[in-house]
Amino acid sequence: MNILIMGPAGAGKGTMSDLILKEYDIPHISTGDMLRENVRNNTELGIEAKSYMEAGKLVPDDVINAMVEKRLQEPDCQKGYLLDGFPRTLVQAEAFSEIADKIGKPVESVIALEVDFEILKERITGRRICPKCGAIYHIKNHPSKVEGICDDCGAELTQRKDDTVEQLTVRMEEYDKSTKPVIDFYEGKGVVTHINAAQKPDVVFGEIKEALGKIA
Ligand code: AMP
Repeated sequence: MNILIMGPAGAGKGTMSDLILKEYDIPHISTGDMLRENVRNNTELGIEAKSYMEAGKLVPDDVINAMVEKRLQEPDCQKGYLLDGFPRTLVQAEAFSEIADKIGKPVESVIALEVDFEILKERITGRRICPKCGAIYHIKNHPSKVEGICDDCGAELTQRKDDTVEQLTVRMEEYDKSTKPVIDFYEGKGVVTHINAAQKPDVVFGEIKEALGKIA
């Protein structure tokens, strides 16, 4: 199963991806997570990406394309992939078409999550993440049992540096300018399902399963 999940920051891509990978046993490949790991480990790639990420700007296409191509060659991608946060520009989508054909894994389904800006703002500013195991919380909608501590591994929760209203505004502008054309690109291939992601998580996931059922 070769799937892309798309949507602006705060649309619930991370939460839905966790549910998808449990149900379908394919790896969740988030370019944002991969980049953050590189930043944490101070790799050459991380050092290059850091300033773009902290400003809410996109990291250059060639850097991202090479990173994804390499990741998709790993054995866990044999059954397919769930790509989250990529492709994010038309240049990436076109390059990815070639990569995906070359490795025999063309995109079969694009899940496009849609949510209004006001709701995103609330979700993003309340989001807390576990830097150790990646669990995602929200101070109101999905609080941890003990405030500030991860339920799963006990690490102290943090807030992403780009989870502010200012950065969200920049990321939304980037999304409208760069990523909407990617959805149009896949629309032309007839593989997009638009989903109202302002609904409750189980309703959103139900609609995703229905969309993916069509390719299973
Ligand atoms: P995310 O976690 O998907 O919101 O990504 C966080 C940040 O990583 C973005 O604001 C970008 O700076 C960078 N990033 C992630 N994926 C991509 C991509 N496909 N192309 C360019 N930059 C990316």
